[in-house]
Amino acid sequence: MRAVLLLFSFCLILSMRVEAQQSPAPVQQPASTTQPSTVPPSQTATEPVPVPEPSEKALAYYRSGNVLWVVETMWGLLIPALFLFTGLSARIRAWAQRFGKKWFFVISLYFLIFSTLTFVLDLPLDYYAGYVREHAYELSTQTFGKWSSDTLKGLLVGLVIGVLFLWAPYLLLRKSPRRWWLYTGLLAIPFLLVMILIQPIWIAPLFNKFEPMKDKALEASILRLAERAGIEGGRVFEVNKSEDTKRVNAYVAGLGATKRIVLWDTAIAKLDESELLFVMGHEMGHYVLGHIWKLLFFYSILIIAALYAVHRTAGWLINRYKHRFGFDQLADIASLPLLMLLLSIYSFLVMPIALAYSRHIEHEADRFGLEITQSNHAAATAFVKLQTENLAVPRPGLLFKLWREGHPTLGDRVDFCNNYRPWEKNEPLVYGPLFRDVK
Ligand SMILES: [Zn+2]
Repeated sequence: MRAVLLLFSFCLILSMRVEAQQSPAPVQQPASTTQPSTVPPSQTATEPVPVPEPSEKALAYYRSGNVLWVVETMWGLLIPALFLFTGLSARIRAWAQRFGKKWFFVISLYFLIFSTLTFVLDLPLDYYAGYVREHAYELSTQTFGKWSSDTLKGLLVGLVIGVLFLWAPYLLLRKSPRRWWLYTGLLAIPFLLVMILIQPIWIAPLFNKFEPMKDKALEASILRLAERAGIEGGRVFEVNKSEDTKRVNAYVAGLGATKRIVLWDTAIAKLDESELLFVMGHEMGHYVLGHIWKLLFFYSILIIAALYAVHRTAGWLINRYKHRFGFDQLADIASLPLLMLLLSIYSFLVMPIALAYSRHIEHEADRFGLEITQSNHAAATAFVKLQTENLAVPRPGLLFKLWREGHPTLGDRVDFCNNYRPWEKNEPLVYGPLFRDVK
């Protein structure tokens, strides 16, 4: 699956990221203990909420997660290198030429074979990371059947997207060997727009059921908040993620007519109303502040820069190793593992920049959520629940923060919730002018 996603690797990974980063960090739920709420807000609303120390289990999840991340990152480089240096990629291309004949079919056939092979090679690691480990830490509720069908559907979606779009960069490589990186980077923008647009209506529903909210009283409170945020009605959906996980989440997806806020049913079950309203305030911040557009613009620049770096290095590598690779041009579809390998390396290098920008946007969404709800205490307890119930480490190491954190650390978020109260000092709100009066 990783390999399939690595097709246009940057583009797809980043398009997933747009969505993933629109949401607060996932939360693990306690088996039965700490039920939602605590002390009435009126008594404690001004007291700071302390950041708890991480549990032993959380530290174990964090440490083993770091090891797993290193293994997955190395694996993601090893597999395409294997296809290249053994000449396997060239052999697959030769086979695709024999059966495909026409250029478009050769590209599609090559892609189908290559993706299926990498899918199989990645499967043990994906099974461990996505199923075994999540169950071992009691984060997952997924049956093996659901995991398998989701994984296969993911493969099929990747294959369809690849066949539909992979010919474009290869056509550009052939027609414009000197400027293909720029044209491909520019084409990635409409490609990402289409992906973001169709994701909530055609892709996400393949995996889960999306419905209007069941709790009508809660829905009314959320819609009242949405109206104050200037969001037109009915754009809130509930999704049955409890079938897959105990984690809690919410996110913004789509563009224009497909734009919506999605609340996982696990969040509705586990957070109390004021905590949920803050989470929704945060998501509404992403929605109203146009964060999807900002991320798209910012990442497009990174994509073009990474493609330029690929352009500058790929030719040199091909010259040096063409006999082992079995091809002598980047426009040859057998170069796909080389493109993936180089894109993985450059996306790794620019990752800290991409994540720093994401953390900035998340911080602004937190500010928006606090300003519109003014529920500092509920916001802070929501983040503490994310931490304690999700095995999260509130103040992770610097390398973790730089390469893996798309959100401010939970410790920083709780601190901010405790301290950010401009309305108490009669200072102007940063996003106040965006709020509407609602009767
Ligand atoms: Zn967010």
